Amino acid sequence: MERRKLLLALAAAPLAFTRICAHAQAKTMKDIEALQKNWKTFLPAGASVPAAGEALKLSKDEWRKRLPNDLTYKVLREEATERAGSSALNDEKRAGIYACAGCGLPVFTSEMKFESGTGWPSFFTTIPGVFDIKKDFYLIYPRSEYHCKRCGGHHGHVFDDGPPPTNQRWCNNGVSLKFIPKDGQA
Ligand SMILES: [Zn+2]
Repeated sequence: MERRKLLLALAAAPLAFTRICAHAQAKTMKDIEALQKNWKTFLPAGASVPAAGEALKLSKDEWRKRLPNDLTYKVLREEATERAGSSALNDEKRAGIYACAGCGLPVFTSEMKFESGTGWPSFFTTIPGVFDIKKDFYLIYPRSEYHCKRCGGHHGHVFDDGPPPTNQRWCNNGVSLKFIPKDGQA
């Protein structure tokens, strides 16, 4: 039992460290603005990505064919939520871009990610102008749900308990994201 406690304590330590680092990287709103402005520096050399204005509208059948599996379809197109801790992107630490899994629109950079401890990939800001936000009432209190501006795909919910200076926590389903590493290795 004591050994288990020790292992748990050791496992928790890197998370705390990552959190401190994320805070250290972006201290002021000027830092946040710089992260938002410089997002293209996280793309691999020569990569071409779509813009939010190039709308992608498909039928339900077309989405079923385009998306890799049923869970991705249910989250992106029917606003389901993946199981906490199920996404490999929780542990993704490399430099790069997180794009919408539905349409490829870049939505976050690796510098915007932080360890929230929730079991979902979490970000304290976004690439500007990539999401539409609406209130939902699935739980008794209203939550701000956000969708990809280009394809309308559901990504997650934004809360106001994130790290300063934005205090935002963009809680994103991992299946709604596709990671593009900056070094070009998949
Ligand atoms: Zn999209």
